[in-house]
Amino acid sequence: MKSANGLAGARQGRPAFWNTAKRYYDFKSCLGNTFGTRVAKLTVDAGFTCPNRDGARSTGGCIYCDGRGSSLRRKGALPSVTEQLRLGMERYRGSGAEKFIAYFQTFTNTYGPVDELRRLYDEALDFSPDIVGLAVGTRPDCVSDEVLDLLASYRERCRVWLELGVQSFHAPTLERINRGHTLEELLDAIERASSRGLELVGHVILGLPGETSEIMRETARRFASLPFSGLKIHLLLVLEGTALADEFRRGEVPLPTLEEYAGWVADFLELVPPRVSIQRLTADGYRDIFIAPDWARNKLAVLNAIDAELERRDSWQGEKDGE
Ligand code: SF4
Repeated sequence: MKSANGLAGARQGRPAFWNTAKRYYDFKSCLGNTFGTRVAKLTVDAGFTCPNRDGARSTGGCIYCDGRGSSLRRKGALPSVTEQLRLGMERYRGSGAEKFIAYFQTFTNTYGPVDELRRLYDEALDFSPDIVGLAVGTRPDCVSDEVLDLLASYRERCRVWLELGVQSFHAPTLERINRGHTLEELLDAIERASSRGLELVGHVILGLPGETSEIMRETARRFASLPFSGLKIHLLLVLEGTALADEFRRGEVPLPTLEEYAGWVADFLELVPPRVSIQRLTADGYRDIFIAPDWARNKLAVLNAIDAELERRDSWQGEKDGE
């Protein structure tokens, strides 16, 4: 595609509503546009487990999962939801945040009786009027109609995001990584959640075993065709204590260079519609159990490489939306 000045790319450029200097619709800008102020996401570990670990679906977990949960959990008894939010708020107010999203992040945050889920989500929203959003991370096989109805009921008082682990829309990959659910369950969860007006954030992983760049682009096209409002792209990390680490040590897991990864992310972003907020572009943390790829230790360098790749292509999120 040639632009008016004859250069490749730049078909649509930067939509005015993005309000950002980035070549993609970064989440910070999206939150600023939505709430008109600085908003911080406060992570909560409410003590959930995961059916892909506790035996309900499997005991092995996804091959890349370290199974440890949050650092808070590893320190001992978990503080209450209220206490976690209080501490998080204190920290982020210091850096200028005025409103907050309670983010139930660790393991599968809809995996429990509905009354218990209601108690936990209520506790978060009742904590402060400055909590303006509820984000709940989960798996596609753990969102019954009852759970989705509960989440949808909170739309009267705040924004509600359902963060779904997608990882890939390639069915053989879901099996290969031991996701413990099918592609059909994933598509069904997306359909039932969006029909209730829940905002969907999809998590995908780039570099999964067996996936070519074309398979990843296929996931991007499928993602673009579905009603997601947010995207988190993770890099496949090899962590100590995972099945992936064993495969890696046997030489069975090829990992990308930083340049290859930046190219995959740029490919993905080009296919994602401009309306989708980009909430993450790499994976970080896990310093004590990190194995590879070595370049991923430097998050800023990864983000800079992605920016540079989009710049080099003179390309944007949504540049190839619909192709
Ligand atoms: S769904 Fe999440 S918590 Fe459960 S095994 Fe997979 S990565 Fe681990």
